[in-house]
Amino acid sequence: MREVKAEVIKNTVRDLFLEANYFIGKDIYNKLKEQYEKEESPVGKSVLKQIITNDEIAAKEKIALCQDTGMAVVFIELGQEAVIVDGDFNEAINQGVREAYIKGYLRKSVVSEPVFDRTNTKDNTPAITHIKIVTGDKIKIAVTAKGFGSENMSGIKMLKPADGVEGVKEFVIRTAVDAGPNPCPPTVVGVGIGGTMEMAAILSKKALLRPVGKHNEDSRYAELETEILQEINKSGIGPAGLGGRTTALSVNIEYFPTHIAGLPVAVNICCHAARHAEKVI
Ligand code: SF4
Repeated sequence: MREVKAEVIKNTVRDLFLEANYFIGKDIYNKLKEQYEKEESPVGKSVLKQIITNDEIAAKEKIALCQDTGMAVVFIELGQEAVIVDGDFNEAINQGVREAYIKGYLRKSVVSEPVFDRTNTKDNTPAITHIKIVTGDKIKIAVTAKGFGSENMSGIKMLKPADGVEGVKEFVIRTAVDAGPNPCPPTVVGVGIGGTMEMAAILSKKALLRPVGKHNEDSRYAELETEILQEINKSGIGPAGLGGRTTALSVNIEYFPTHIAGLPVAVNICCHAARHAEKVI
């Protein structure tokens, strides 16, 4: 067994959230620049320019690239031959989030209870954590700081198998287009297909961590990603919802086996502040 100290987990989580909040990923940055060149709407072009400039200032000054610094979501692939020592795994993750958001001057956006009190926890904890046990002795930690302007425009539907690929396309496109300007476009559209209801939702979130420009390895799903993206961009919503051809930067689909009687589809929308970072320990 390989021993990994809880403190290493804590420090890694802290550093990843600081990185994600200050530095937009190269994939998003390059795609924004590419779309700036292609965008035919003058207003849309101007908005893209402002987003690019904003991301450059944030990286240079090491400040949050958006005021909504998101809810902390952590995906962990835990090698079954690795063991966490000298501390509690979950607490290490939350302490990492706490240190990033307090020391990094990132907005604390989490309330301890959703309906009645809505009291701010003041340190952006707890994180939402998804752990998958894998072979080996490594630990992969991938994080996203998920803004809620876009999270709020997400959706899930339990389609029938007979709805097929047309049903999937219709639901994903409708969800993305009905969102209008609310998710701070241009967006990344994460899609989870299959599994159970909660698995589809988790897959749609996980899809957002895939770099923009990288397609699903299954060519059928890769084609579906391209087709849905083209349809969303025909909507004319454009950057910031002010018109243009750049409504979404990417559609990322993940799938999983499902029941013979079902076809769950989840759509998780992310804004242009598509913040994700990862490290293997
Ligand atoms: S949805 Fe994204 S870009 Fe919009 S305010 Fe929230 S984090 Fe910022």
